[in-house]
Parts: sequence; C-alpha cells; structure tokens
Amino acid sequence: MAIDTVNPATGETLKTFTPLTEAEIETKIALAERTFKQYRQINFSQKAQWLIKAADLLETDKQKFGELITLEMGKTIESSIAEVEKCAFVCRFYAEHAEQYLADRHITTDASQSFVRYQPLGIILAVMPWNFPFWQVFRFAAPALMAGNVSLLKHASNVPQCALAIDRIFSQAGFPSGTFQTLLIGADRVKAIIQDDRVKAATLTGSEHAGQSLAAAAGDALKKVVLELGGSDPFIVLESADLEMAVATAVTARMLNSGQSCIAAKRFIIADPIFDRFQQKLVERYQLLKVGDPMLADTDIGPMATRQIRDRLDAQVQKSVQMGAKLLMGGKPDFDRPGNFYPPTILTDIPANAPAYSDEMFGPVAALFRVKDIDESIELANSTVFGLGASAWTNDSIEQARLINELEAGAVFINGMVKSDPRLPFGGIKRSGYGRELSSEGIQEFVNIKTVWVK
Ligand code: NAP
Repeated sequence: MAIDTVNPATGETLKTFTPLTEAEIETKIALAERTFKQYRQINFSQKAQWLIKAADLLETDKQKFGELITLEMGKTIESSIAEVEKCAFVCRFYAEHAEQYLADRHITTDASQSFVRYQPLGIILAVMPWNFPFWQVFRFAAPALMAGNVSLLKHASNVPQCALAIDRIFSQAGFPSGTFQTLLIGADRVKAIIQDDRVKAATLTGSEHAGQSLAAAAGDALKKVVLELGGSDPFIVLESADLEMAVATAVTARMLNSGQSCIAAKRFIIADPIFDRFQQKLVERYQLLKVGDPMLADTDIGPMATRQIRDRLDAQVQKSVQMGAKLLMGGKPDFDRPGNFYPPTILTDIPANAPAYSDEMFGPVAALFRVKDIDESIELANSTVFGLGASAWTNDSIEQARLINELEAGAVFINGMVKSDPRLPFGGIKRSGYGRELSSEGIQEFVNIKTVWVK
C-alpha cells in the first residue's frame, strides 16, 4: 500500500511519502536500542513531566491536529478535536498513575522479604490503524513510555502525516531522541522488525488478518503480542429499557467515526414488544443525519476513510440484500460525488448466512434483529466470532446481572454505550484479540513482572 495522504472527502492525493530504506530502519532500531539503556533509568517524575508537556502540546494545537486527522481519514472535525483532547487526558492520566501501578508489590512468604518488581522490556513495536490515528497511538504510548520502554510506530499507510506529527509531539515534549520513533514503512516490513532480536514485543490494533500475521511472526520469534482486533458489538434493548435514551444512544454508538470504530454498536438486538417502535424511531433519527464535508461543524457523517473500505461495505450490504435482508434506508454509495461517501443505512430481516449477520460492518450500517426474550438476545449476541464490547439496555436488575455474566465480551456496558476510558481496561476476547490496554492492566502488559525473593 502506498504511503500517502489522500483526502477521503475529495479523492485527491495531497502528499506522497517514500518508505524508509533498510538502512534507515536499521539506524532507527539502533538508536532505540541505545536510548533504552539510558531511558530505562529515568525516574517517574521526569517521565511524567515530559508526558504532561505532550498533553499541553496536544491541547494547545488541538485544532491543527484535529484538521490533520480529518484531512487524512475523514472523520468530522468535532470528533477529531475530541480525539486529540482524549489523548491529552490519557497522557495526564498515566503521568499521575504510572508510578503507583508499577510500584513494588510486597507479598509475605518464607523469605525475609519477597516482592514483585515491574521493569521495562525495551523496544516495543506498535502497529496502528487509521480510524483513531492519534488515540490508538497515545493509548499505547503513554503507558509504554511511563513504564520505561521505548517505541517504534508503524502507523497505517493512509495517515503518515498524523504519524509524523505524533513523533514530533513526543520529541518536542522533551523525551530523549529515540524514545518514540515513527517508521514510514509498508506492512510487508513488519515481520522482519518483530523478529529483530532488539525488539522485545509488539502491539497491533487492526484487522484479524493483520493480527494473525503479526502474531504468527512474533510467535515464531517467541515474543509477546497484544492484539486489539475487530468487533461486531451487540446493542441489546429489552422491554424495560428507557427507549428514547436507548435509541438516541444507538445512533451515536453506530455512527461514531462514521461507523468505523471497533467498538461501534453494530448489531441491534431488540425485544419483540418494543421492536417496531425502536425501528421507527431509529429510522427517524437516521434521516436527520447530515452526510457531507467533515471539515464543517454541522456535518454528522464524513466519508469512509478509503475507497477500499467504502467498496467493501457496499459489497457486504448488496450481498446481504440479495440474500433476503430488507433495506429500510440508504444502501448505495453516492457515486456522483467525489470521495468515499456512504449513507446511513439500516438493514433488517437479515438471514443467518448474510454478511450483515456475521461479518464486521465497518461503516454507518445498522443491522436490526428481533428477539423474543433475554435468552434469545444473549444467544444471538454471543453467536459471533468476535467478543469486544457489548451494550445492553434494561432496568430490570435480574436481567442486568444475567447480561453482565453471560455476554461474551471484553466489556459490558449496561444502559450506556461502549467506550474506552483510561481508567478502565480495554480489550477483547475470541477473535477480537487478547491482552488489555489502559488502566493498570494496560501498563502491565509490556513489563517484566519480576519476582524477587531475599532470605
Ligand atoms: P488493518 O488493515 O489491519 O491495518 C491496521 C494496521 O496494520 C496498519 O498499520 C496496517 O498497515 C497494518 N497491517 C496490515 N496488514 C498487516 C500485516 N499483514 N502485517 C502487519 N501489519 C499489517 O486494519 P484496518 O482494516 O485498516 O482497520 C480496521 C480494523 O481495525 C477493524 O477490524 C477494526 O475493528 C479494527 N480496530 C480494532 C480496535 C480495537 O481496539 N480492538 C480499534 C480500532 C480498529 P498498512 O496501512 O500499511 O496496511
């Protein structure tokens, strides 16, 4: 894949980059290795000062960084700016909490003292996607750098300017040269880097295919990997739910990032007695959404990030309709317009073998399912290869307890939409990946959990 900036709203190629040569990659890995030897000795308060400075830089230039995000991947400017603000939050969060999360943990045994010490591993490779081009990187980097690791970033090929901007933020914040470096490279170079002896572990956020490929290469070299992959999150609404609130949240939860979010609600599983009302209200709200120029403040949905993503979504919807799914609205890209626009779309009566039933739909397409009761809702919610997040709506406490226990997902949100929060761990099960980011679990993924025993 070429490394370039293509405006998804116009299709215009704005900037093209030459991938790094083998020699340039070697120089960067060697610098990271040298830097780690000193960087690992730096105390928490110094690292925290640099991270707080990074937060300041993000906040000061949130408009500029927001425009860059929107330019490269097409989300609305308002959501791009919010993404930058969230990055500042995660920096401040780990600046404040990392030392406590990684403090020695004393345990009484037969030793005169025994404890657990958390030490950095070294160079961590981060392979990141375009859909939250700042947030995905910062939620990995803030804890990794506070833990004393150094990082190499291989960002998605369609967001190179975001990747370079993040690199500059960390160096301007004061982190020593080599602590965080962007590698402008294609996916075909990842295998050799994770298999380099100097690189100790990797994290990847992206598709199942990319995750499998990285995990295979890392497995071959016996290196640890954290994988944050796709999802087809259920959004269950049962009879006792606050319907207005559920429908309003359903729209936000599906349309987040023009539908291109791993934790977007993708399958709406609605109890029979309220199904018709839910459907009608959802259609009414969808009809109010404005698709258009993502740089304009009143736009709700921008273009899909790339032509390939739009076409894949189009093919999934077409095939589902051919197989018998009913289209309530949308369903056809806007071919007359430049860019990768796709309209809000709602499908129902979806047969079990259709793509809309089983695949991840990465765009503004809601799949509606009617179920008779909570048992059927849980069964349908779990009948997917994915297990990232789940949102369930009910005011019945017995139903809430069952949903919390029985939904197969890395996160269950009751009466709210699934979202990431630096204070809470984030990640999936099944084919949505393994390992966790954020909170104390996230910072402990890339450390040597060293047992110390002293007589
Ligand atoms: P993708 O194609 O897998 O790309 C993600 C990153 O992986 C990019 O940097 C890409 O580089 C790289 N990559 C692609 N193939 C690779 C390979 N064989 N080996 C190593 N690296 C490879 O993902 P996408 O389709 O653009 O992103 C959307 C997917 O990410 C969705 O499935 C979404 O659900 C998932 N996602 C998950 C989370 C989560 O937290 N669980 C968050 C966001 C997105 P190039 O750009 O150079 O190909």
